[in-house]
Amino acid sequence: MTSQRNVTPHYDVIIAGAGIIGLSTALFLQGKGLKVAVFDKGDVAYEQSSRNWGWMRTIGQDMAELDLALASRPLWKQWSEEGDFGFRPCGLVSLAESAEEWSGLQQWLRQAREHGLDTQELSTSETRRLLPQFQRSWSGALFAPGDAGIEPDLAMRFLERKTLDAGVKIMTRNAVKQIDITGGKASAVETETGRITADRIVIAAGAWSRLLCKTVGIVIPQLKVTASVLRTSPVENGPEPNLSSTRYCLRRRQDGGYTVARRNSSLTYVTPDSVRFIRQYLPNYLKQKQMLRVRAGTTFFRELQMDRRFGPEKTNPFEDFRTCDPVPDIDTLKETLEHLKEDAPVFQNARIMGSWAGTIDVLPDALPVLSPVSQCSGLFLASGFSAHGFGIGPASGKLMADIVTGEASASSAAPFRLERFQLNDD
Ligand SMILES: Cc1cc2nc3c(=O)[nH]c(=O)nc-3n(C[C@H](O)[C@H](O)[C@H](O)COP(=O)(O)OP(=O)(O)OC[C@H]3O[C@@H](n4cnc5c(N)ncnc54)[C@H](O)[C@@H]3O)c2cc1C
Repeated sequence: MTSQRNVTPHYDVIIAGAGIIGLSTALFLQGKGLKVAVFDKGDVAYEQSSRNWGWMRTIGQDMAELDLALASRPLWKQWSEEGDFGFRPCGLVSLAESAEEWSGLQQWLRQAREHGLDTQELSTSETRRLLPQFQRSWSGALFAPGDAGIEPDLAMRFLERKTLDAGVKIMTRNAVKQIDITGGKASAVETETGRITADRIVIAAGAWSRLLCKTVGIVIPQLKVTASVLRTSPVENGPEPNLSSTRYCLRRRQDGGYTVARRNSSLTYVTPDSVRFIRQYLPNYLKQKQMLRVRAGTTFFRELQMDRRFGPEKTNPFEDFRTCDPVPDIDTLKETLEHLKEDAPVFQNARIMGSWAGTIDVLPDALPVLSPVSQCSGLFLASGFSAHGFGIGPASGKLMADIVTGEASASSAAPFRLERFQLNDD
């Protein structure tokens, strides 16, 4: 579907990365009358944006991101009236396994109420009424009726079509290999098919943003985490709302099955970057140790080698790895489905119909960067969504478009400034 033709030698804005962030930013920029082109090293949304659980959620979001989550709800709703991508305002229930976890959720709710949320505490009987399929009890539950489920792959096909119809050029299998700086200003991108100039350049390259930033000497303390997901065969009379718990997370799919995963099963490998950024990550890691498993292995040397292969004349990592397609952790996925079967007999006959994994781009404070790059005028960064960029993607793209044109209010953009990480050399 993607257009590869009629590429002109100059655009008002060039965006590297055709995930939800790159495409929604492009859509809103084009809506402001700018001429925009998006380049992707692979195909549209083949990395995180089509591999996620399909949650649009407010529960558990950082206070700094709640406004983006709330502002994304009407955008998703409006888009769902233009095309079918399985948008289901089914709500999300967050289940606490322990008193400690429940007190954390209650504390979050107390702060979040100031943002005008619809989230409510459920009593034990209300939880039973909402989730009659489950045989166990929890220490507490929160319910956000306005949260929703979306089919990520269909949503991204919809967004691709909408962005193309708006007049954005999308070039796939055409990596941005390097960003050129002239007189301290980002002036052009070197792509696989040649050099194209632009007034402004946005890096929205997901887990690859750090490497692309490196081509202009900008350091972002971004790391990668692998998360695995499964989908089941159809389940009759299963739960309607999306569920979040430490034993399993799920969403009912349009095909009648469920997307199932485990929140605390993400995996990260020791790499040169994780050693380099250990100080920045340590506080958050110590708080959420049980959510992440750390492994050592050959990834260290692969990443070291990847870091060194650069330059527009050589092939570089963006061409060598068209799509990040990690191997899913099938043992953990099987165990997760077993937990679900133990707790909810309605899943007894559910079979695993498919599994996949995705590489998540994280930042030390788990908040994205939506920001100009102050060392280099005309360069912008929209990345580091730390596992929750899909649901907040539409409003993030809108905010990013305002940042690029200088129309964003200082208060809306402040939490996402790149300068909050003070890193100078690599
Ligand atoms: C398993 C999993 C579950 C998740 N669940 C949820 C969820 O339920 N809800 C939620 O809100 N979020 C979820 N997320 C997170 C969410 O998917 C991401 O935050 C979001 O998709 C990030 O979008 P993006 O556009 O920044 O990155 P991506 O979708 O990764 O897109 C980046 C694009 O940039 C391209 N690119 C990279 N380098 C270059 C280059 N040099 N030149 C050109 N193109 C380049 C890549 O090919 C890729 O297509 C989940 C993520 C995973 C992996």
